[in-house]
Amino acid sequence: MNNLTVFLAIILGLAISGCGAQIEQPILEEPQVVVSLTATSITSTVTNNLVSASPSEMHIVTLTTAVTSVQSTTGNTSAVIPTATVLAPYLVTALPLPTQVPTQTPTQTPTQSPTQSPTQVPTRMIPMVTPTLWPTPDAEASGRVVRVPILMYHYVEPLPENADELRVGLTVQPGIFRQQLAFLHARGYRSVSLYDLLYHLVHGKTLPEKPLIFTFDDGYRGLYKHAFPHMQAFGFSGTVFLVTGLMDDGHEAYLTWEMAREMDLAGWKLEPHSKTHVQLSDRPFELVEYQVLGSMQTLQAHIGRQPRFFSYPSGRYDQQVIDYLTAVGFWGAVTTEYGLDHDLVNEFTWKRVRVPGRGSVSDLSKYLGEDISY
Ligand SMILES: [Zn+2]
Repeated sequence: MNNLTVFLAIILGLAISGCGAQIEQPILEEPQVVVSLTATSITSTVTNNLVSASPSEMHIVTLTTAVTSVQSTTGNTSAVIPTATVLAPYLVTALPLPTQVPTQTPTQTPTQSPTQSPTQVPTRMIPMVTPTLWPTPDAEASGRVVRVPILMYHYVEPLPENADELRVGLTVQPGIFRQQLAFLHARGYRSVSLYDLLYHLVHGKTLPEKPLIFTFDDGYRGLYKHAFPHMQAFGFSGTVFLVTGLMDDGHEAYLTWEMAREMDLAGWKLEPHSKTHVQLSDRPFELVEYQVLGSMQTLQAHIGRQPRFFSYPSGRYDQQVIDYLTAVGFWGAVTTEYGLDHDLVNEFTWKRVRVPGRGSVSDLSKYLGEDISY
Protein backbone atom coordinates (compact mmCIF):
# COMPACT_ATOMS: atom_id res chain seq x y z
CA MET A 1 0.00 0.00 0.00
CA ASN A 2 1.54 3.26 -1.03
CA ASN A 3 1.37 6.54 0.85
CA LEU A 4 -1.47 7.96 -1.15
CA THR A 5 -3.60 4.97 -0.48
CA VAL A 6 -2.85 5.22 3.21
CA PHE A 7 -3.84 8.83 3.22
CA LEU A 8 -7.11 8.26 1.42
CA ALA A 9 -7.97 5.37 3.62
CA ILE A 10 -7.55 7.55 6.68
CA ILE A 11 -9.66 10.33 5.22
CA LEU A 12 -12.39 7.98 4.19
CA GLY A 13 -12.30 6.23 7.51
CA LEU A 14 -12.79 9.48 9.32
CA ALA A 15 -15.58 10.49 7.01
CA ILE A 16 -17.47 7.31 7.44
CA SER A 17 -17.10 7.24 11.18
CA GLY A 18 -18.10 10.83 11.48
CA CYS A 19 -15.29 11.23 13.91
CA GLY A 20 -14.28 14.78 14.64
CA ALA A 21 -11.17 13.92 16.55
CA GLN A 22 -7.90 15.38 15.48
CA ILE A 23 -5.28 13.33 13.72
CA GLU A 24 -2.52 13.27 16.20
CA GLN A 25 0.52 13.11 14.00
CA PRO A 26 1.72 13.18 10.42
CA ILE A 27 1.44 9.97 8.58
CA LEU A 28 4.52 10.10 6.41
CA GLU A 29 8.08 10.85 7.16
CA GLU A 30 8.81 13.18 4.26
CA PRO A 31 5.79 15.27 3.34
CA GLN A 32 6.47 16.82 -0.01
CA VAL A 33 2.96 17.95 -0.62
CA VAL A 34 0.87 20.11 1.59
CA VAL A 35 -2.81 20.00 1.04
CA SER A 36 -4.33 23.11 2.47
CA LEU A 37 -8.04 23.17 2.88
CA THR A 38 -10.43 25.93 3.40
CA ALA A 39 -14.15 26.03 3.57
CA THR A 40 -14.49 26.60 -0.14
CA SER A 41 -11.43 25.26 -1.87
CA ILE A 42 -8.80 22.64 -1.82
CA THR A 43 -5.31 23.59 -2.90
CA SER A 44 -2.53 21.16 -3.22
CA THR A 45 1.01 22.39 -3.43
CA VAL A 46 3.62 20.13 -4.85
CA THR A 47 7.32 20.80 -4.94
CA ASN A 48 8.06 22.99 -7.92
CA ASN A 49 4.60 22.44 -9.18
CA LEU A 50 1.30 23.98 -8.11
CA VAL A 51 -1.90 22.15 -8.61
CA SER A 52 -5.20 23.64 -7.57
CA ALA A 53 -8.22 21.54 -7.29
CA SER A 54 -11.43 23.16 -8.33
CA PRO A 55 -13.32 24.86 -5.53
CA SER A 56 -16.02 22.61 -4.40
CA GLU A 57 -18.25 21.69 -1.60
CA MET A 58 -16.25 20.19 1.15
CA HIS A 59 -16.68 16.53 1.07
CA ILE A 60 -14.41 13.62 0.94
CA VAL A 61 -14.97 12.73 -2.69
CA THR A 62 -13.63 16.05 -3.85
CA LEU A 63 -10.63 15.72 -1.65
CA THR A 64 -9.91 12.38 -3.22
CA THR A 65 -10.08 13.96 -6.64
CA ALA A 66 -7.67 16.66 -5.60
CA VAL A 67 -5.18 14.23 -4.33
CA THR A 68 -5.47 12.11 -7.44
CA SER A 69 -4.85 15.22 -9.44
CA VAL A 70 -1.68 15.86 -7.55
CA GLN A 71 -0.63 12.33 -8.14
CA SER A 72 -1.32 12.63 -11.80
CA THR A 73 0.68 15.82 -12.09
CA THR A 74 3.68 14.64 -10.22
CA GLY A 75 3.62 11.13 -11.56
CA ASN A 76 4.72 10.10 -8.15
CA THR A 77 2.25 8.00 -6.28
CA SER A 78 4.26 8.07 -3.11
CA ALA A 79 4.80 11.78 -2.95
CA VAL A 80 1.37 13.02 -2.02
CA ILE A 81 1.20 13.58 1.66
CA PRO A 82 -0.79 16.21 3.42
CA THR A 83 0.12 17.13 6.87
CA ALA A 84 -2.34 15.86 9.35
CA THR A 85 -2.52 19.16 11.17
CA VAL A 86 -3.83 20.83 8.04
CA LEU A 87 -6.33 18.15 7.40
CA ALA A 88 -7.71 17.96 10.86
CA PRO A 89 -9.73 21.17 10.91
CA TYR A 90 -11.05 20.38 7.47
CA LEU A 91 -12.27 17.02 8.51
CA VAL A 92 -13.94 18.39 11.56
CA THR A 93 -15.85 20.93 9.60
CA ALA A 94 -16.41 18.83 6.54
CA LEU A 95 -17.87 15.78 8.08
CA PRO A 96 -21.07 17.36 9.35
CA LEU A 97 -22.03 18.19 5.77
CA PRO A 98 -24.04 15.05 5.11
CA THR A 99 -26.18 15.88 8.09
CA GLN A 100 -26.76 19.43 6.87
CA VAL A 101 -28.73 18.22 3.90
CA PRO A 102 -31.53 16.55 5.82
CA THR A 103 -31.76 19.34 8.37
CA GLN A 104 -32.18 22.02 5.71
CA THR A 105 -35.15 20.36 4.10
CA PRO A 106 -37.43 20.09 7.12
CA THR A 107 -36.64 23.55 8.42
CA GLN A 108 -37.25 25.29 5.11
CA THR A 109 -40.64 23.76 4.51
CA PRO A 110 -42.34 24.63 7.79
CA THR A 111 -40.88 28.12 8.07
CA GLN A 112 -41.77 29.17 4.54
CA SER A 113 -45.36 28.01 4.54
CA PRO A 114 -46.62 29.63 7.73
CA THR A 115 -44.75 32.89 7.31
CA GLN A 116 -45.75 33.48 3.70
CA SER A 117 -49.48 33.15 4.16
CA PRO A 118 -49.99 35.49 7.10
CA THR A 119 -47.40 38.06 6.05
CA GLN A 120 -48.79 38.50 2.54
CA VAL A 121 -52.23 39.45 3.77
CA PRO A 122 -51.21 41.90 6.50
CA THR A 123 -48.61 43.51 4.24
CA ARG A 124 -51.41 44.37 1.86
CA MET A 125 -54.06 45.07 4.45
CA ILE A 126 -52.18 47.14 6.99
CA PRO A 127 -50.57 50.06 5.26
CA MET A 128 -49.02 52.87 7.22
CA VAL A 129 -51.74 55.02 8.67
CA THR A 130 -51.26 58.68 7.97
CA PRO A 131 -53.57 60.76 10.12
CA THR A 132 -55.27 63.72 8.54
CA LEU A 133 -54.61 66.61 10.86
CA TRP A 134 -57.31 68.87 12.15
CA PRO A 135 -56.65 72.27 10.63
CA THR A 136 -56.18 75.33 12.81
CA PRO A 137 -59.42 77.35 12.86
CA ASP A 138 -59.16 80.99 11.87
CA ALA A 139 -61.02 83.85 13.55
CA GLU A 140 -64.12 83.44 11.39
CA ALA A 141 -64.51 79.68 11.82
CA SER A 142 -67.18 79.74 14.49
CA GLY A 143 -69.43 82.02 12.48
CA ARG A 144 -69.17 80.47 9.04
CA VAL A 145 -72.16 78.91 7.36
CA VAL A 146 -71.94 77.53 3.86
CA ARG A 147 -74.41 76.03 1.44
CA VAL A 148 -73.03 72.83 0.01
CA PRO A 149 -75.66 70.25 -0.95
CA ILE A 150 -74.69 66.76 0.20
CA LEU A 151 -76.48 64.34 -2.09
CA MET A 152 -77.46 61.01 -0.56
CA TYR A 153 -77.65 57.93 -2.75
CA HIS A 154 -77.98 54.26 -1.84
CA TYR A 155 -78.37 51.80 -4.75
CA VAL A 156 -77.25 52.82 -8.22
CA GLU A 157 -78.09 49.70 -10.20
CA PRO A 158 -80.98 48.07 -12.05
CA LEU A 159 -83.98 47.19 -9.91
CA PRO A 160 -84.37 43.50 -9.18
CA GLU A 161 -87.62 41.96 -10.37
CA ASN A 162 -89.01 41.45 -6.90
CA ALA A 163 -88.08 44.91 -5.58
CA ASP A 164 -90.34 46.15 -2.81
CA GLU A 165 -91.25 49.76 -2.11
CA LEU A 166 -88.27 50.26 0.19
CA ARG A 167 -85.87 49.02 -2.44
CA VAL A 168 -87.50 51.13 -5.12
CA GLY A 169 -87.19 54.20 -2.93
CA LEU A 170 -83.49 53.57 -2.33
CA THR A 171 -82.58 52.88 -5.94
CA VAL A 172 -81.55 55.21 -8.74
CA GLN A 173 -81.33 53.22 -11.93
CA PRO A 174 -78.13 53.59 -13.96
CA GLY A 175 -79.69 55.43 -16.91
CA ILE A 176 -81.35 57.97 -14.61
CA PHE A 177 -78.15 58.35 -12.65
CA ARG A 178 -76.17 59.22 -15.78
CA GLN A 179 -78.79 61.78 -16.75
CA GLN A 180 -78.48 63.31 -13.28
CA LEU A 181 -74.72 63.56 -13.63
CA ALA A 182 -74.99 65.23 -17.01
CA PHE A 183 -77.62 67.60 -15.68
CA LEU A 184 -75.60 68.57 -12.62
CA HIS A 185 -72.45 69.04 -14.63
CA ALA A 186 -74.27 71.21 -17.17
CA ARG A 187 -75.70 73.31 -14.34
CA GLY A 188 -72.16 74.06 -13.21
CA TYR A 189 -71.92 71.82 -10.16
CA ARG A 190 -68.49 70.55 -9.23
CA SER A 191 -67.90 67.85 -6.65
CA VAL A 192 -65.99 68.44 -3.45
CA SER A 193 -65.51 66.21 -0.41
CA LEU A 194 -66.63 66.44 3.18
CA TYR A 195 -63.01 67.34 3.94
CA ASP A 196 -63.21 70.31 1.58
CA LEU A 197 -66.41 71.40 3.29
CA LEU A 198 -64.82 71.15 6.72
CA TYR A 199 -61.64 72.97 5.65
CA HIS A 200 -63.78 75.73 4.22
CA LEU A 201 -65.63 76.13 7.52
CA VAL A 202 -62.46 75.93 9.61
CA HIS A 203 -60.13 78.21 7.69
CA GLY A 204 -61.91 79.40 4.59
CA LYS A 205 -60.60 76.97 1.98
CA THR A 206 -61.83 78.07 -1.43
CA LEU A 207 -64.68 76.03 -2.86
CA PRO A 208 -66.00 75.96 -6.44
CA GLU A 209 -68.80 78.35 -7.27
CA LYS A 210 -71.37 75.56 -7.12
CA PRO A 211 -69.97 72.88 -4.83
CA LEU A 212 -71.72 69.57 -4.41
CA ILE A 213 -70.93 66.48 -2.37
CA PHE A 214 -71.96 63.02 -3.59
CA THR A 215 -72.45 60.45 -0.83
CA PHE A 216 -73.42 56.80 -1.23
CA ASP A 217 -74.60 54.97 1.87
CA ASP A 218 -74.05 51.26 2.50
CA GLY A 219 -71.45 50.69 -0.25
CA TYR A 220 -73.49 48.47 -2.55
CA ARG A 221 -71.55 46.63 -5.22
CA GLY A 222 -73.49 48.20 -8.07
CA LEU A 223 -71.65 51.45 -7.38
CA TYR A 224 -68.47 50.04 -8.80
CA LYS A 225 -70.02 49.36 -12.19
CA HIS A 226 -72.87 51.86 -12.48
CA ALA A 227 -71.66 54.92 -10.56
CA PHE A 228 -67.88 54.95 -10.24
CA PRO A 229 -66.87 55.04 -13.96
CA HIS A 230 -69.63 57.47 -14.94
CA MET A 231 -68.75 59.82 -12.11
CA GLN A 232 -65.14 59.72 -13.23
CA ALA A 233 -66.19 60.58 -16.79
CA PHE A 234 -67.72 63.83 -15.54
CA GLY A 235 -64.82 64.62 -13.26
CA PHE A 236 -66.90 63.91 -10.17
CA SER A 237 -65.83 61.92 -7.15
CA GLY A 238 -67.87 60.76 -4.19
CA THR A 239 -67.88 59.51 -0.64
CA VAL A 240 -68.95 55.96 0.12
CA PHE A 241 -70.09 55.08 3.65
CA LEU A 242 -69.16 51.44 4.05
CA VAL A 243 -70.66 48.72 6.23
CA THR A 244 -67.33 47.11 6.96
CA GLY A 245 -68.52 43.92 8.63
CA LEU A 246 -70.65 42.93 5.65
CA MET A 247 -67.71 43.55 3.35
CA ASP A 248 -65.50 41.44 5.59
CA ASP A 249 -68.07 38.65 5.26
CA GLY A 250 -67.81 38.88 1.49
CA HIS A 251 -71.52 39.63 1.13
CA GLU A 252 -72.17 39.80 -2.61
CA ALA A 253 -74.44 42.84 -2.34
CA TYR A 254 -71.55 44.99 -1.11
CA LEU A 255 -68.32 46.28 -2.60
CA THR A 256 -65.30 44.11 -2.17
CA TRP A 257 -62.29 45.64 -0.45
CA GLU A 258 -60.42 45.51 -3.74
CA MET A 259 -63.10 47.60 -5.42
CA ALA A 260 -63.12 50.02 -2.51
CA ARG A 261 -59.37 50.43 -2.62
CA GLU A 262 -59.50 51.14 -6.33
CA MET A 263 -62.06 53.86 -5.72
CA ASP A 264 -59.95 55.25 -2.90
CA LEU A 265 -56.93 55.43 -5.20
CA ALA A 266 -59.06 57.26 -7.76
CA GLY A 267 -59.73 60.01 -5.24
CA TRP A 268 -62.98 58.85 -3.70
CA LYS A 269 -63.43 59.01 0.07
CA LEU A 270 -64.27 55.89 2.04
CA GLU A 271 -65.84 56.47 5.44
CA PRO A 272 -67.58 54.14 7.91
CA HIS A 273 -71.30 53.44 8.27
CA SER A 274 -70.88 50.97 11.18
CA LYS A 275 -69.91 47.32 11.05
CA THR A 276 -73.30 45.66 10.56
CA HIS A 277 -75.74 48.54 10.01
CA VAL A 278 -77.53 48.35 13.33
CA GLN A 279 -79.29 51.27 14.95
CA LEU A 280 -76.89 53.17 17.23
CA SER A 281 -79.27 55.40 19.17
CA ASP A 282 -80.52 54.23 22.58
CA ARG A 283 -78.08 51.34 22.64
CA PRO A 284 -75.48 50.13 25.18
CA PHE A 285 -72.14 51.90 25.09
CA GLU A 286 -70.34 48.67 24.21
CA LEU A 287 -72.44 48.23 21.10
CA VAL A 288 -71.74 51.79 19.99
CA GLU A 289 -68.03 51.31 20.60
CA TYR A 290 -67.93 48.05 18.68
CA GLN A 291 -69.83 49.43 15.70
CA VAL A 292 -68.01 52.77 15.51
CA LEU A 293 -64.47 51.86 16.50
CA GLY A 294 -64.63 48.52 14.73
CA SER A 295 -65.65 50.00 11.40
CA MET A 296 -63.20 52.88 11.78
CA GLN A 297 -60.24 50.63 12.45
CA THR A 298 -61.16 48.20 9.70
CA LEU A 299 -61.28 50.99 7.15
CA GLN A 300 -58.07 52.42 8.50
CA ALA A 301 -56.35 49.09 8.04
CA HIS A 302 -57.52 48.81 4.44
CA ILE A 303 -56.87 52.29 3.13
CA GLY A 304 -54.11 53.58 5.37
CA ARG A 305 -55.98 56.68 6.45
CA GLN A 306 -57.98 57.39 9.56
CA PRO A 307 -61.57 58.06 8.48
CA ARG A 308 -63.00 61.30 9.85
CA PHE A 309 -66.67 61.27 8.86
CA PHE A 310 -69.47 58.92 9.84
CA SER A 311 -72.93 58.20 8.50
CA TYR A 312 -75.47 57.04 11.08
CA PRO A 313 -77.15 53.77 10.10
CA SER A 314 -80.78 54.58 9.20
CA GLY A 315 -80.01 58.13 10.25
CA ARG A 316 -80.45 57.29 13.94
CA TYR A 317 -78.15 58.88 16.51
CA ASP A 318 -78.10 60.27 20.04
CA GLN A 319 -75.68 62.24 22.21
CA GLN A 320 -73.81 59.11 23.28
CA VAL A 321 -72.97 58.32 19.68
CA ILE A 322 -71.88 61.88 18.95
CA ASP A 323 -69.73 61.96 22.09
CA TYR A 324 -68.10 58.69 21.14
CA LEU A 325 -67.43 59.79 17.57
CA THR A 326 -65.80 62.93 18.93
CA ALA A 327 -63.72 60.99 21.43
CA VAL A 328 -62.19 58.65 18.85
CA GLY A 329 -61.28 61.41 16.42
CA PHE A 330 -64.14 61.89 14.00
CA TRP A 331 -64.63 65.39 12.63
CA GLY A 332 -68.26 65.18 11.62
CA ALA A 333 -71.21 63.01 10.65
CA VAL A 334 -74.13 63.09 8.27
CA THR A 335 -77.78 62.37 8.90
CA THR A 336 -80.67 61.54 6.61
CA GLU A 337 -82.49 64.77 7.39
CA TYR A 338 -82.94 67.30 4.66
CA GLY A 339 -80.80 70.40 4.64
CA LEU A 340 -78.32 72.37 2.55
CA ASP A 341 -76.41 74.64 4.93
CA HIS A 342 -73.59 73.58 7.21
CA ASP A 343 -71.52 74.97 10.05
CA LEU A 344 -69.10 73.88 12.76
CA VAL A 345 -71.75 74.06 15.47
CA ASN A 346 -73.63 71.08 14.06
CA GLU A 347 -70.88 69.20 12.30
CA PHE A 348 -72.09 65.89 13.75
CA THR A 349 -75.57 66.38 12.35
CA TRP A 350 -74.90 67.68 8.86
CA LYS A 351 -78.00 67.31 6.73
CA ARG A 352 -78.28 65.91 3.23
CA VAL A 353 -80.40 65.80 0.10
CA ARG A 354 -81.97 62.44 -0.60
CA VAL A 355 -82.01 61.75 -4.33
CA PRO A 356 -85.12 59.78 -5.22
CA GLY A 357 -85.17 57.19 -7.95
CA ARG A 358 -88.40 58.55 -9.34
CA GLY A 359 -89.28 61.89 -10.82
CA SER A 360 -87.70 63.97 -13.51
CA VAL A 361 -84.05 64.74 -13.48
CA SER A 362 -84.76 68.44 -13.43
CA ASP A 363 -86.44 67.94 -10.05
CA LEU A 364 -82.92 67.95 -8.71
CA SER A 365 -82.89 71.72 -9.08
CA LYS A 366 -85.62 71.92 -6.49
CA TYR A 367 -83.82 69.59 -4.10
CA LEU A 368 -80.67 71.61 -4.50
CA GLY A 369 -82.40 74.76 -3.44
CA GLU A 370 -82.29 76.49 -6.79
CA ASP A 371 -86.04 77.10 -6.76
CA ILE A 372 -86.34 77.57 -3.05
CA SER A 373 -85.83 80.88 -1.39
CA TYR A 374 -84.29 80.79 2.06
ZN1 LIG B 1 -77.40 52.82 5.48
